[in-house]
Amino acid sequence: MSRLLIIGCGGVAQVAITKCCQNSEVFTEICIASRTVSKCEALKEKLEKNTTTKITTAKVDADNVDELVALIESYKPEAVLNLALPYQDLTIMDACLKTKVNYIDTANYEPEDTEDPEWKAIYEKRCKEAGFSAYFDYSWQWAYQDRFKEANILGLLGTGFDPGVTSVFTAYAKKHYFDTIESVDILDCNGGDHGYPFATNFNPEINLREVSAPGSYWEDGHWVEIPAMSIKREYDFPEVGMKDMYLLHHEEIESLAKNYPEIKRIRFFMTFGQSYLTHMKCLENVGMLRTDPVNFNGVDIVPIQFLKELLPDPATLGPRTVGKTNIGCIFKGKKDGKDKTIYIYNVCDHQECYKEVGSQAISYTTGVPAMIGAMMVVTGKWNGTGVFNVEEFDPDPYMEALNKWGLPWVVDENPAIVE
Ligand code: NDP
Repeated sequence: MSRLLIIGCGGVAQVAITKCCQNSEVFTEICIASRTVSKCEALKEKLEKNTTTKITTAKVDADNVDELVALIESYKPEAVLNLALPYQDLTIMDACLKTKVNYIDTANYEPEDTEDPEWKAIYEKRCKEAGFSAYFDYSWQWAYQDRFKEANILGLLGTGFDPGVTSVFTAYAKKHYFDTIESVDILDCNGGDHGYPFATNFNPEINLREVSAPGSYWEDGHWVEIPAMSIKREYDFPEVGMKDMYLLHHEEIESLAKNYPEIKRIRFFMTFGQSYLTHMKCLENVGMLRTDPVNFNGVDIVPIQFLKELLPDPATLGPRTVGKTNIGCIFKGKKDGKDKTIYIYNVCDHQECYKEVGSQAISYTTGVPAMIGAMMVVTGKWNGTGVFNVEEFDPDPYMEALNKWGLPWVVDENPAIVE
């Protein structure tokens, strides 16, 4: 019924691709394209025995718009699912515009080189005007709105878990549980243990950039920025237990604040163990998280990229990770004039994920919603022209698909709250 081009073949992509192959009625043909084509071929070989989805592979450098355009023109997909890195968002969006093909991703744009003077000037202006200093923000992709409309194509931004499912949870809470939502606390708890002193659960470079940045939250119509890891809370997560969690800046806060101006406060918390934080602080203090090139023996090396080479590949953590994740949103607001609080969440077991798709739960909780977002677009359940965040569409078919495709959710109408 549909043909999907998937770019990237890392931890998240491998889950999304496996899920597309379980959903052959919708995804009759897929092409896996990445920089290292051998990874695409190995995955094709593993999956094609058990699926009727026709899989092809291609080599592409997604930093190169012409290469992308040539691939899209030859494969002629209904949509492109971008599961490469946030660095490639804009080149892939440009290629989709040129070829008039729908675009889907899981993370918002950030530049690879944060010392690039052209980008930096725009970034510094945005920091002053918007009041938060994360390297990533939606302005770059929202700027495609008119061009996507003119090209009569849809861009679906951020269909991972967070952003993605957490944003759909917000739309669902508003549709079925509240007249007005006053506050949202997004909680991302990984109660898993991989046995390494230090490893990241998804791309180390993207992960470490995110968590070492200042935290921020949305309150009364503006951003409040705080030093990294300076707001800590404890929360007793269903099926996981008591964990320390820290307030971080996170991209769905930006889109939820725009799409739900009624919400007075939006915060995001992620759990971290002490060992992770100590390692990260040390790496930061010695300069290993730097994103600008450093010349070493005549070769330019970006410290955070070199660090990625030293750390375990997140795609290999599956067999050794045990425990569960609990990710969801606590909503406070009013229904029929009365105060109401609910927690909508999903619990995912690392070993169950590994048994099913060969990956740990972090890749699983992102890869499944990536497949579901692509399904919403190619089946036309979500349609329109322009650039959209997931919370702008009807949440019901997506929520139904989460239950069906491995991420069942719970609505707790009497949850503990975060002070
Ligand atoms: P990985 O590093 O495991 O995989 C990235 C893949 O992209 C690799 O296959 C890599 O190829 C490929 N790639 C990188 N650069 C290029 C390029 N120039 N051209 C073609 N292919 C390229 O990352 P993850 O799977 O962990 O993450 C994928 C995406 O998911 C990221 O954008 C991340 O931010 C996002 N994410 C979103 C989450 C959410 O909840 N919304 C949560 C977790 C991740 P190669 O093997 O050759 O390097």
